[in-house]
Amino acid sequence: MATADKEKKLKEGWEGISRFFRANSLWMLMYCTGCCAIELPQAMTSRYDMERLGMGPMATPRQADVLLVTGYLSVKTLRRVIYAYEQMSTPKYIVAFGPCTINGGIYHDAATVIKSLDQYLPIDVYIAGCMPKPEAVMNGFQDLIDMIKDKTADGWKRYRDNYDWYKQNQIESLGELRIKDEYHE
Ligand code: SF4
Repeated sequence: MATADKEKKLKEGWEGISRFFRANSLWMLMYCTGCCAIELPQAMTSRYDMERLGMGPMATPRQADVLLVTGYLSVKTLRRVIYAYEQMSTPKYIVAFGPCTINGGIYHDAATVIKSLDQYLPIDVYIAGCMPKPEAVMNGFQDLIDMIKDKTADGWKRYRDNYDWYKQNQIESLGELRIKDEYHE
């Protein structure tokens, strides 16, 4: 086998190993925006025990891999969620809970509630249910783990590649944001 092929195979091997370990050791930043958050304690404690998936809570965005958005977001809260996401280092993932993150859910006609979170931030996994049962939460986390292993959890790349579009939507709804633009430097 030619040296270039060997190097390519070796690189793919190391990347696969690193993805495997990353997927099985995820730190979550829980941004408990709405009532969906009430199902997290059940998923975290002994009955469902999400730590067996290698997932645990993290207090700061800079050390977290996964941002959990647990339900509806007001315009004010969205700003904080964007700041938190921007502080996380790549690769990073977002899991969104409930229909409120898709279309505003039962708050769809409220002027201060964000209707479509994916206009502002890239979502990797949606978890269905208002509010989602702990079983659904565990399934959603398992989906994320599988997606990381097979390289389809690529929200952070979509954010990087379409940064101007995300930024424009953010500014239209929130005005100027205090974010360092790392993608155009
Ligand atoms: S989806 Fe349902 S449970 Fe979740 S934040 Fe919206 S109203 Fe609350």
